[in-house]
Amino acid sequence: MSTDPNCIFCRIIAGQIPSRKVFEDDELLVFHDIAPWAPVHVLVIPKLHIATLYELTAEHAPMLGRMLALAPKLMRELGVVNGFRTLINTGEDGRQEVQHVHMHVMGGPRPWAKG
Ligand code: AMP
Repeated sequence: MSTDPNCIFCRIIAGQIPSRKVFEDDELLVFHDIAPWAPVHVLVIPKLHIATLYELTAEHAPMLGRMLALAPKLMRELGVVNGFRTLINTGEDGRQEVQHVHMHVMGGPRPWAKG
């Protein structure tokens, strides 16, 4: 599996940087964002190092589907039953800070810090 030793999310996957894990399997990891915008703010990431959505191919489609399908399941488990936002930032103009594909999933009662 492709990993990048300089990538902060690859280092979280490897257990070299601590995270508050919500879900993990062979393909995906979900953990709480360190600077949450909302009462519940998790990041859903593939374990495969893919820098941005630009690098995706048709082969990744099932994995992306799994990422999306996890969002409502985990939000329910985390007590978020009144709606949530999903967001994937891509590239510089998309304000992507971490170069490893990740989907923000944010929910919980408003007001939120951002978003
Ligand atoms: P983006 O701007 O879409 O690239 O978002 C990157 C997100 O990663 C931000 O919301 C950060 O707060 C979050 N983040 C960065 N480092 C960590 C970390 N060590 N643990 C959890 N979340 C992190």
